[in-house]
Amino acid sequence: MLRKTNNFSDILLQENPSDVLRRSFEGGRIAQTYLFAGKASVGRMAVAKAFSALLQCKSPIKDENGRLDSCGKCEDCKRIISNSHPDVKLITPNGNEIKIEQIRELQDIAILKPTLGNWQIFIIDPAEKLNQSSSNALLKTLEEAPAHSLFILLASDTGAVLPTVLSRSEIVRFNSPSHQQVRDILQNKFNMEPEAAAACYALSEGNFGQALAMAEDYEYDPEVFTIKRAHTNYLLQLQMFAQLIENDFSSVNTLEQAVNKAWQLQTMTYQPLLEARKQLCRSLVMNTGLPKAFPLMFSQEIINTIDSASAFIRKSLDPMLAESKKSYPSAVIKDIETQISSATDKWGSDQIEKLFVCLMNLYTDAMLMAANAEETLLLNLDRKEDIITLARVEGFALLRSRIEMLEKSINLLRRYIQPLLILENVITQIGGAEA
Ligand SMILES: [Zn+2]
Repeated sequence: MLRKTNNFSDILLQENPSDVLRRSFEGGRIAQTYLFAGKASVGRMAVAKAFSALLQCKSPIKDENGRLDSCGKCEDCKRIISNSHPDVKLITPNGNEIKIEQIRELQDIAILKPTLGNWQIFIIDPAEKLNQSSSNALLKTLEEAPAHSLFILLASDTGAVLPTVLSRSEIVRFNSPSHQQVRDILQNKFNMEPEAAAACYALSEGNFGQALAMAEDYEYDPEVFTIKRAHTNYLLQLQMFAQLIENDFSSVNTLEQAVNKAWQLQTMTYQPLLEARKQLCRSLVMNTGLPKAFPLMFSQEIINTIDSASAFIRKSLDPMLAESKKSYPSAVIKDIETQISSATDKWGSDQIEKLFVCLMNLYTDAMLMAANAEETLLLNLDRKEDIITLARVEGFALLRSRIEMLEKSINLLRRYIQPLLILENVITQIGGAEA
């Protein structure tokens, strides 16, 4: 990873929010609750950590512009870098939401004096996952919190945050970088060739944080796969990814860790799989007139592989569960098993959703091209030739209807409608339409 410090000077592309926070620190006008509003992965967490470090640091330094920043060397700074500061707590969803028990726990800690740092800091990510009761509990905490506690809420959709919580927060807005800004950063910070930077960013599906993480060990392979090879490779990489996850799970030895790990599955990435998915989607959109039987066979194989990968991942937690059966009531074990199952199921359905998102991004680029937009607006700049061909062959209206079809399919998928039927339908529509 690029970010081995928590200094503001290492924050990329978020100078405005960084300046707002540093100025409030320098002027001693620190708000008790901040709401960082901006899309996921644009750097809100990096800024939250930089700000926490500045607040906790024992001896802040001045940067070359005379701005205060954390020293990066004191105990507080080091602990924040390694995510182990006792007075900087991260609150993330337990399951699908942030529950009232989590906020009650936070409430108990918030009244205590910080143990190491100057503040008790709580980072809530994402604030949209607070439900009605945990939002109300949080509001009460904010109203009663002692002066040494500070709250940072991260949200991409402020409309989903309780208005009373919103009105108590100082809102700090984050920019969404343009495709070109990210590609420039990849080129400049990682010395990547323009094509490699474009390919790396495109593989991250426009996710800035992921692109940065990937840039470190990116190897550019311009080879174009045929659809069959792309399909086989995608299935193979899915299995490899499941194996990688299994390795990661082998270190788990408590029930709590098991549940956390299972829910973290959603954020794990594996570059060869991203690459394989991209190649597969590219082959699919470029290939018209697929054989009639293709969509069903193709979809079945994908669904089977995903199902067996999820089962494999689930199974790797079995030894730990068996061990826990000796010391926990069966109702607890049952609940944990259910949670692990739903997390791995979610991981599986996410794989199909990601395929659809990847297809949608290619069509969106083609639609932009068909509307004579500038090339720099393309997400998949590494596939420029393909995009131009696609725009010419399919035209604006058809491309738009394909995007709508994919949006609808994603919605169906999220409602747990038969994934095989949805996938088969998508492949039929985009691949074999003329049959
Ligand atoms: Zn420090």
